[in-house]
Amino acid sequence: MSRIFSGIQPSGELHIGNYLGAVKNWTKLQHEHETIICIVDYHAITIPYEPAQLRTRRRDMALSLLAAGIDPNVATLFVQSQVPQHTELAWVLNTITPLGELERQTQFKEKSQRQESINAGLLNYPVLQAADILLYRANLVPVGEDQVQHLELSRVVARRWNATYAADNDFFPEPQPALTPARRIMGLDGQAKMSKSLNNTIGLLEPPEEVWKKLRPAITDPKRIKRTDPGTPEVCNIYHLHKALSAPDTVEHVAKQCSTAGWGCIDCKRVLFESMERELIPIRRRAEELRRDPAHVEAALADGAAHCRKLAGETMRGVRERMGFD
Ligand code: SF4
Repeated sequence: MSRIFSGIQPSGELHIGNYLGAVKNWTKLQHEHETIICIVDYHAITIPYEPAQLRTRRRDMALSLLAAGIDPNVATLFVQSQVPQHTELAWVLNTITPLGELERQTQFKEKSQRQESINAGLLNYPVLQAADILLYRANLVPVGEDQVQHLELSRVVARRWNATYAADNDFFPEPQPALTPARRIMGLDGQAKMSKSLNNTIGLLEPPEEVWKKLRPAITDPKRIKRTDPGTPEVCNIYHLHKALSAPDTVEHVAKQCSTAGWGCIDCKRVLFESMERELIPIRRRAEELRRDPAHVEAALADGAAHCRKLAGETMRGVRERMGFD
């Protein structure tokens, strides 16, 4: 059975974009592969943050993941900082990672442009990512197209370390990308990927009236100015959300009604809202149960961390031995 590793930032409650773009896929993969899901709180501190907020967001993320269907009886869910071997392996990998490879990373270039002073953690972020994956010797990493470059770096690092220290040359498997079938979910502004920092999200646990309040004014095909203007569904984010959430015959109906000006955008959004509610009602219900039983969330994380410390300990024993630290 392949081992899958996935990481997610402790950004608080999940939004529809995280859910449709990644987490929903994990809930399926957990039944097909050995699945490890990590809330990557050490990654979150490469930009300024409030410690109290980090605690809350980490807890909210864990609760959201469990409510969204991650099952701790099947998959392993844990918090990165509870397994110290992540940073230990990251240091080791830093010593064989070419600096040029890090400077070329698109995310580093983008993030460093937004910061006044650039910390070394921002540059070394992909090394910690490589350590996250290699620590569990995962074979598969579910990624969106925008993360393939980071995974490629993990493969380079695995190859280099194997070539330098492992005579058998396959201590670390080169992790393969499992391209996430779900699409890149755009924000309600229709301009950029759905992201909390851009304030264009719908929270997975938001009450229905809030969801509708956000959905109603969401950007659609800009060329559909009047109700009688036919639209082009493919350019409209609402149509893409239908494709992710509505039944195939509804999606077909949406495309037809849009391109023939058979209905207005509000009608279309009402149907999307119904599809969204069908998906969100059971998730909200599970979240409510978990809120009433926080010990359940804590126990899932503690069990996950204990299991991962064991796996990580085995890997680090192999690393230490091969590098002369035993
Ligand atoms: S009818 Fe639906 S798919 Fe067409 S532009 Fe309006 S919201 Fe988008």
